[in-house]
Parts: sequence; structure tokens; C-alpha cells
Amino acid sequence: MPEGDTILRAAAALHRALAGHVVTRFESVYPAVNRVAEDRIIIGRTVESAFARGKHLLVAFSGDLALHTHMRMNGSWHLYRAGERWKRPARDMRVLIATATVEAVGFNVPVAELLTTRDIARHRELGALGPDLLDAAFDAAEAVRRMRARPADAVGDVMLNQRVMAGIGNMFKSEVLFLAGVDPFAPVSALADPDLERIVAVAREQLGANVMTRAQTLSRSIERTTTRSLDPNSRLWVYGRGGKRCRRCGGAIESRKTGIDARLTYWCPRCQPARRAGE
Ligand SMILES: [Zn+2]
Repeated sequence: MPEGDTILRAAAALHRALAGHVVTRFESVYPAVNRVAEDRIIIGRTVESAFARGKHLLVAFSGDLALHTHMRMNGSWHLYRAGERWKRPARDMRVLIATATVEAVGFNVPVAELLTTRDIARHRELGALGPDLLDAAFDAAEAVRRMRARPADAVGDVMLNQRVMAGIGNMFKSEVLFLAGVDPFAPVSALADPDLERIVAVAREQLGANVMTRAQTLSRSIERTTTRSLDPNSRLWVYGRGGKRCRRCGGAIESRKTGIDARLTYWCPRCQPARRAGE
């Protein structure tokens, strides 16, 4: 699943390429999008901005209309100069916004819809999002409060819940909990406020660092790091390292499938000792 920093980078690149320019072509394979686009013509509108909200990406057009997309697991946005050959097959195109000079192509983007400001406010997912970790006005106390509201949930699951805080995917979940020294399976009720505050602070710092230090390109895969190591083999602490030695204590890193989509959680049992409710 793309992490919040990926979406933020995609939004920033789309904003730079499209904002202030008039739409010359708009295409989608989704009938619902096309129906709205027929009624409320997109061609001729100016792109006002592209921005991220949690893991949602929005492109706002003049005249109170925005394209909302969510990349889920496999979606991605590519930017091309007009006429440039696409790097993905045309059959993977789900939505396209073109200006006189640029084509922005959403490949395999599974969620796309056209919304007004009012639709966005009432939107089931967009309206309910928790504080966005990459937002300058992020409210850490509110994120902690929303974590506390789910005392029985494992802290690792709570971090992925976009209604609690928006922006964390599976990779950052494992890395942040390692850096915070917290067992991913501990219920929130077993954790003290300073634990939750530390998790939120580390999550913010890591997402922010990965936004600021990477080249802002869309089609190139982005190498994330949480260790600040320049060695490409030691970019991450635990994620994807099941069975290998912990970089901090030398113990074996464990991994376990969790949740409905069986995503892997990675952790070091020595650096992140188990905690149960009431301890
Ligand atoms: Zn360790």
C-alpha cells in the first residue's frame, strides 16, 4: 500500500506540472466519472491545485470540482510530456488529465470520482480521516486521543487506521514501532501516554524525512530509509528483514501475517518487548 509520503510526492509533482494550466483532455474508464464529466465539462477548466489528504489524492479544477483518487495497493500516477511514450500499457490507464504540454496518467488507480466541495465534506472516507501526519497543522494530541478511543486494538492496527491518523502504511508501521521500541501487538490500553506520544512523533518525523530528502519524481521507484544509512542494503531497521539480525541488538527479527489482507508485520522481540493489557 502506498504510504502517505508517496501520495504527498505524487500530489506535489502533479501540482507543479498541472496547476494554473487549462485542461485540454480528460479521460476515464469509469462510467460514473464520465457521467459527471459529461454534465460538468472538465475540458477548459483550469487546474487549481493537486494535494494529498492522508492517502487520498485530489486534483481541484476551477468551478468547484475535484478529482478524488485513491491508489490502494497498485495504483500510480505518471507524468509525461505531451506525446511522450507511456511506460505502462494503455489498458492500465484509468484516468487521464492533459494540458497543452503535459499528460498526467493514473494507472490502475482503483478509486476515482469527481466531487464538489460539499461532496468532499460529506464523503465517507475523506470526511472521516484522522489528523494528517504530513500536514503542517497536524494535531498530535488529537491523534493520541483517537488511538486511546480504541483500547482493545493492537497498536500496529491502530496506526494503519486512517481514521486515527492519516498517512501510515505497512512499511512505516513496522519501522516506526521499532524506533519507538513498542511491541506491534500490544493493545493500546497496555501503553502509557508517553508511548503513544512517542509513536506519533516518530511517525511524523519519519514520514516528513522521507518526503524532504527524496527526488520528487513519480515514475521512479523511491528508496525509502528510516536508518539514515547511505548504504542501500541497510535502509530499513526491520521491514522485510524477517529472520535477519537486528541492527541494534543482534537478535533475530520476527515477522507475522496479520489483518484481513495478511500483511506482514516485522519486529524485534528484544528491542520491542511484548506488552499485555494491565501491565
Ligand atoms: Zn533488536
